[in-house]
Amino acid sequence: MQISPELKNILHTPHRVAVFSHRNPDGDAIGSSLAMKQYLETYGHDVHVLLPSEYPEEFEALPDAADILIWDTQTEECKQVLNKKNLFIFLDFNALSRIDRMGEYIRELPGNRLMIDHHLYPELSAEFMFSQPEASSTCEMVYRFIQAAGDVDRITPRIGKCIYTGLVTDTGSFRHATNARVFRIVADLIERGTSDSEVMDMIFNSQKEKHLRLLGHCLNNRMEIYPEYNTALIWLSKKDYEVFNIQRGDTEGIVNYLLTMKDIKMAAFIHNQPSVVKISLRSKGDLDVQAICKKHFNGGGHKTASGAHVYDSLRAVIEKFKSILPEYKSQLVGQP
Ligand code: 5GP
Ligand code: MN
Repeated sequence: MQISPELKNILHTPHRVAVFSHRNPDGDAIGSSLAMKQYLETYGHDVHVLLPSEYPEEFEALPDAADILIWDTQTEECKQVLNKKNLFIFLDFNALSRIDRMGEYIRELPGNRLMIDHHLYPELSAEFMFSQPEASSTCEMVYRFIQAAGDVDRITPRIGKCIYTGLVTDTGSFRHATNARVFRIVADLIERGTSDSEVMDMIFNSQKEKHLRLLGHCLNNRMEIYPEYNTALIWLSKKDYEVFNIQRGDTEGIVNYLLTMKDIKMAAFIHNQPSVVKISLRSKGDLDVQAICKKHFNGGGHKTASGAHVYDSLRAVIEKFKSILPEYKSQLVGQP
């Protein structure tokens, strides 16, 4: 990664900065945003992090998480803050549609734009673009951005905690998308005082009783397996949302359980959120679920983890999902 003299100049001159990440923010979205905020503050920038929707409760423990502005619930305050900004930073997404109305609101606002992201096929335009689909996470890229700026010494344990959060969550606890570089970054963060066990505890030992009961319900009553396609599905209805009082982040990670079955190559989670039907697809091996999500559901993401949302009935989306499986049979079952 290389930082141009022009961008370096911007970094070294205090700006009024808005840092954005995507709807339904995950650990990488929040971690990268808060890490960037704290890094920029070391240069005297005035920084706000803005998200379209609320973030999962476990990330409340991250430094400065309490200062994040949420467009859905604080729209007026967000607008007032945004009107004063002159540097806009997009982290962990690459199309303005991923920040919904906030994207429309800032489209015409004056100021420089910087994007740092690891999703495929960027669609937004920015003066400064860092797009690396091969990166494990946006947090990895933020670390390398800080490194390219010659500032690794500015990485405090607080910043390290945020970066480590995205590394852990986007690699499924270092099970995929890792490489030697990722582990070197982790080693460096730990040497700089980041407590890895504290982050693991924050993410994985913060479940509530209702999470485990919901997981049990999904695995026992809502799981369907299609052995002829090495595919498995979990679905949740609007009624399930009410019965289990499902809220932000409560369904995070459920889809991954399906991939723990030996022969399952593709896992789907289709659920009826209050206003849309949301699809999550995951794969192991070589199958490109991003291509499937894009072609059939107008979604996006990564090769092994992608998602989409559809304005249709739950039943219709499940039927459509099942109907496309034959098209991928050879990839799912491998060559005979
Ligand atoms: P998840 O299934 O965890 O919601 O998302 C997996 C990946 O797919 C994420 O990288 C996310 O950016 C992408 N993704 C999720 N939902 C959508 C969507 O509605 N549209 C697009 N284009 N990408 C999505
Ligand atoms: Mn990410």
